[in-house]
Amino acid sequence: MATAGEVLNAFDNIRRAQHAGVYAPHKPLLILLALGRVQRGEPRMVEFSEVDAPLRALLGEFGPSSAAKSRHYPFWHLATDGRGALWDLNGPKDVLTRPAGATPSLGELRRRHIAGGFATDIDAALRQTPGLLQDVARRVLDAYFPATLHADIAAAVGLDLEQPPQAADSAGADARYADAPVRRRDPSFRERVLRAYEYRCCVCGFDLRIGHAPAGLEAAHIQWHQFGGPDIEPNGLSLCALHHKLFDLGVFTIEPSEYRVTFSQHAISGGRGMSGELQYHGRAIHAPQRSELLPASEYLLWNASGPFKRPARPVARAKPRAKR
Ligand SMILES: [Zn+2]
Repeated sequence: MATAGEVLNAFDNIRRAQHAGVYAPHKPLLILLALGRVQRGEPRMVEFSEVDAPLRALLGEFGPSSAAKSRHYPFWHLATDGRGALWDLNGPKDVLTRPAGATPSLGELRRRHIAGGFATDIDAALRQTPGLLQDVARRVLDAYFPATLHADIAAAVGLDLEQPPQAADSAGADARYADAPVRRRDPSFRERVLRAYEYRCCVCGFDLRIGHAPAGLEAAHIQWHQFGGPDIEPNGLSLCALHHKLFDLGVFTIEPSEYRVTFSQHAISGGRGMSGELQYHGRAIHAPQRSELLPASEYLLWNASGPFKRPARPVARAKPRAKR
């Protein structure tokens, strides 16, 4: 059985293998899905056909456009990733002995009954070391997704992130985090971004306060912190909790020439229609008080080609914003 440190290392090696800055959540979502299975006591190996539908749904909700088409890649490539220590494949020899780059098609993985799962020693450690599975899941979530999405993703893969009491008590839990390569967040980011936008949501104008403190207002990273987005105002937007969530889910983005809110064609609003969320489509954001604090194109372009669920709805002539 692997030690906790070896298990965390194996998963960290996967994270380091990602291309810097490119939003491709395939591997982390497969890993989280597999962790959920282990937590529920399901068998170590699972056939691709069994996880195909859940992977498609996860990538449809939390991935960028068309991500679901390549949902089978990590199932195959994880086996050679992380020095091969993390993921096993079972199936007919003629398929398994192919070069790593010769990914079988979706249909082949299903027809040839290819199964995958965590390597035996990793699987045993995850099942037997109290709190380790939750540690791994939280580190994967922290490394790839903004906090607004953690609970939703955990729920979607059926993961319980609560630490069992015996693990929270043990001194070993903290020691395992000591060498974690975590990028620090600048604690002043939130305040600087909210102030730049005069403490209101730049999409809908929401500006509720409790006394002097803003309530339900958040500073969003345009290029996610997890993908190298810096803690500076041109990478920030002041958003209400709802618009922060919708932004991180890729429901809308901000186009960089006139800073107009641009909704995805996948975003459908039923009963509320144009009088609801979609009323903001095509409208310019409430601009920050100083023009040098406006969102920078490089971060907006990352967002539009990353989490945003393309294609965008066409934008008609800009509607003037009502004066505040
Ligand atoms: Zn809002």
